[in-house]
Amino acid sequence: MDEVLAGTLCRAVHQRLDYLDKLATGADLVSRAALADTEIVRLTSAWRTLLAAHQPDARGRCPECSGWRRPRRHPCSVWRIAHQHLIAADGSPADRAGRHAAATGRPAVVTLEAS
Ligand SMILES: [Zn+2]
Repeated sequence: MDEVLAGTLCRAVHQRLDYLDKLATGADLVSRAALADTEIVRLTSAWRTLLAAHQPDARGRCPECSGWRRPRRHPCSVWRIAHQHLIAADGSPADRAGRHAAATGRPAVVTLEAS
C-alpha cells in the first residue's frame, strides 16, 4: 500500500470515528438509538475480525504481530487493547499498558481473566 493510499485510508477511518463520536455524544435520543442499532453490530464485527487475525497460533504466538526475527507472545497489543477497552473499567489512556507504561509507573502487563 503506498503512502497516499495509506493516508487516505487512515483519514477515512478517523473521520468515520469522529462522526460516530459526534453522533454518540451530540445527537438526540432517537438518533442515538438508531446509531446503536446499526453501529454496535458493525463495531463488534470489526473487533471480532481484528481479534481473529490476532488469534495465537499453535505456539502461542500472534501471527500478525510476530516477525521473522521477533515472535510476539499472545496476548499481543491488539488483545490487550481489546481487553482494556471492552472489559476493563473505563479504558482510559492512563490505564494503558505496554512499552510506554514504565514511564508512567503503571504495570506493563495486563492480566486477562476468564469471565
Ligand atoms: Zn497481534
